[in-house]
Amino acid sequence: MRPQLKDVVWERTDDELTLVFDRRSPLVVTDVDGRMEMLLGLLRLGGLTVDELAARLSQEGPAVPPSDVADIVATLDGHRLVEDGERLGRYRGDLGERHYSNLAFFETFATLARSHEDLLDAARGAHVLVLGTGGLNSNTVPHLAGLGVGRLTLADRDLVEARNFARQYLYSWRDLGRSKVEAAGAWVERFDPDLDVATHELDVRGPSDVARLVDETAPDVVMSGIDSPREVDLWVNEVCVPRGVPFVRGGMGVSAAGVWSVVPGVSACRMCLELADPTHGESDFSPGSDDAHTRTARRIFEAKPRVNRGIGAVAGLLGSYAAFEVIRLLTGFQEPQYSGSLLTIDLVDGCSTTVRRWERHTDCPVCRAFGPLDRRTTSSTSRRPVAV
Ligand SMILES: [Zn+2]
Repeated sequence: MRPQLKDVVWERTDDELTLVFDRRSPLVVTDVDGRMEMLLGLLRLGGLTVDELAARLSQEGPAVPPSDVADIVATLDGHRLVEDGERLGRYRGDLGERHYSNLAFFETFATLARSHEDLLDAARGAHVLVLGTGGLNSNTVPHLAGLGVGRLTLADRDLVEARNFARQYLYSWRDLGRSKVEAAGAWVERFDPDLDVATHELDVRGPSDVARLVDETAPDVVMSGIDSPREVDLWVNEVCVPRGVPFVRGGMGVSAAGVWSVVPGVSACRMCLELADPTHGESDFSPGSDDAHTRTARRIFEAKPRVNRGIGAVAGLLGSYAAFEVIRLLTGFQEPQYSGSLLTIDLVDGCSTTVRRWERHTDCPVCRAFGPLDRRTTSSTSRRPVAV
């Protein structure tokens, strides 16, 4: 390991150094004899092991044991200020330019264990099955392609129609009447020829259609954006959960939109929600806390013919939140935020958001195979200035 400082700047005030990578989270360290600043300078250059760093510092005064340097490096790593230089250097030239901002984004989340190049490699080596290329996924595919997700399998059954143009920007007017999935695949190829894109004309009529596609293509994550029939989410759930494939879904009601995901064996699944409250909507639910009138209203509403009210700005919001969750699942740069939970975006309240978790249902036949839930704990790190 050769620790290397990220894009960090610092300034001295008396015996203290203020280190800044992100101005939201400065780190204040004590430096009485100037050797902390010398260490930071060496870490900025990179290329030295902890032992070599200790030896260089020891040349300037009293001996510094490698364990002291290791402790400081660990503290800097705790504040996500260092990476391992041995895990860097693969993105140069044209590839570095192509991924300039992708790399810079992941630098924020990189640690000694996983460099920002490792995180991008995970995305570029990943395969996402995109079910449906309509309103939701024509707004997730560009984000996944921009990040360079290496393999995209697109599936849809529809043709491009005039009413799609409010929110589906993968298609142009000359595509009217063309197969949507074919046009979406062509968009990806034009956008970045290095991406591997496959297309499937698929009419999902039952879980076996989903199972066939998932088994044939073996995706890492499914981005589900098929709206009808209503049972399709349960079919995707029934296929993905036993196979251990996480999936992400988004949808819109009348005045709210929502995004949720399922991580098999970790979160509750879609069937757990169905068992708790069969009348919930894709963007509003509160199992167990609704009165009879609310449930009746939902049931009546569900029987109405569906009107898609999604303008591009709404589909874009949903697509961004959903793509973000897919990227979390593919790279692990962050824990999934909506697994077994519904992110609701309230369109009549300034697009304010809430996240509500639903619980695993004890009678869920889909989750039964997993035994007790393996709830991941999210560590919280203080981002306030601290003295080392
Ligand atoms: Zn379940």
